[in-house]
Amino acid sequence: MSAPLIMKFGGSSVADAACMRAVAALVQRYLPSSPLVVLSAMGKTTDALFRAARMASQGQLEEATEAHAALMQRHESAARDLIGGTLPEDLRAALATHSQELLTVLTGLSMVRELSLRSMDSVASHGERLSTLLFSHYLRACGLDVTLLDARRVICTDAKSGAATPQPRAIAKLAEELVRPHLGPGKVVVTQGYIGATVDGMTTTLGRGGSDYSAALLGAALHASEVQIWTDVEGVLTCDPRIVPDAQPIAELSFAEAAELAAFGAKVLHPATIQPAVEAAIPVTVRHTLKPDGRFSTIRGDVKSGRAITALATRGPVAVVTVTSSRMLDQSGFLARLFEIFGRYSISVDLVATAEVSVSVTIENDVDTDKALEEIRAFASANVVRERAIVALVGEQLRRTPGVAARAFTALRGTNIEMISMGANEINLSLVLAQRDAPDALRRLHAELLEGGA
Ligand code: ASP
Ligand code: MG
Repeated sequence: MSAPLIMKFGGSSVADAACMRAVAALVQRYLPSSPLVVLSAMGKTTDALFRAARMASQGQLEEATEAHAALMQRHESAARDLIGGTLPEDLRAALATHSQELLTVLTGLSMVRELSLRSMDSVASHGERLSTLLFSHYLRACGLDVTLLDARRVICTDAKSGAATPQPRAIAKLAEELVRPHLGPGKVVVTQGYIGATVDGMTTTLGRGGSDYSAALLGAALHASEVQIWTDVEGVLTCDPRIVPDAQPIAELSFAEAAELAAFGAKVLHPATIQPAVEAAIPVTVRHTLKPDGRFSTIRGDVKSGRAITALATRGPVAVVTVTSSRMLDQSGFLARLFEIFGRYSISVDLVATAEVSVSVTIENDVDTDKALEEIRAFASANVVRERAIVALVGEQLRRTPGVAARAFTALRGTNIEMISMGANEINLSLVLAQRDAPDALRRLHAELLEGGA
């Protein structure tokens, strides 16, 4: 029994017939590795489906019907482009069934004039079901041995519509029974990302962008050799390339580093979604569909690299609230009181740095702080500065590498650093500075810490 390879392709990778051809070529290349292909809906389809459902539920059935027609048209023309003039009877019948089913639901929504998460899930499921339908037919037309598997038979979830929780034990059992027999070198299994079902067969979804999660769940369930996330970037980069053009893909990074970067808005993947694979010690790679021989990133639970810093990230604008009180030192409960006030006004605090008589916190830039500050000023002085940015240095080796901070500060000499905070997980050193200084600071830090074999 060989371990399968999970190949997940996002919406942009299967956006049209040309993209699907590129994906098929990749699948052929990995055929000896027993591929299990997990697909998203064709790019923008999920949004279009949600829109159609919303229109229908608002009584705009005509608009919804037009959207439905456009959607079916897009899939049919992609099918024709892939397979040629006349579509095989079973594909035509399957497309007609989808069309009918979707139209029935939309009509129903327009009659009841309501839209539950449950209906949304059922509408949205057509996106992935259609993309996999086309793709599996295309692979078959290419002469491959293909099994199209309805993910709802395997991805067992609870009934929390809109973002259901998968049930890994049930999934492992079902995957063993229903997927394993179809896997093997030279064969392909194609299934949908994002969608699942409850034990009693109600369609659910894992939440937006959930296809990565599906891939990781199937990878863990089937003890895959690797989970490949194919997308439109060459992996996770050392910095945002729009700010630092020299940013490079990170060859290997740890799960904690990936999570830290995602928290700063690196939107390549949501770490929670790959957790099942990482926990099962299965490497997750992020690769570029159109540059399959290019570079890529591998994410593992634990990575022992020699470098001090893995990547830089930034978030902003943010605001910094500084509270100063000479009584802070000997007054127990000072911080508790402060955070109770923030809590009451729903001001969510991100970074915290404390000194002898003051504490600084970052919050969102546009939060109204007037009332909270008024209360705080009853026992301390407080001020807020806006338009700041957080610049974070992220690296597993940060804590073990002496001199990194010194190098960072040397690189930033002349820049006013207003706040410094070491993340509790010790892999994140965050600096706060004026938002306008952030791009230049990132470029200088990148040059010092991440270029030239640093
Ligand atoms: N198609 C779904 C979405 O757009 C799931 C995914 O692409 O991962 O959110
Ligand atoms: Mg995605």
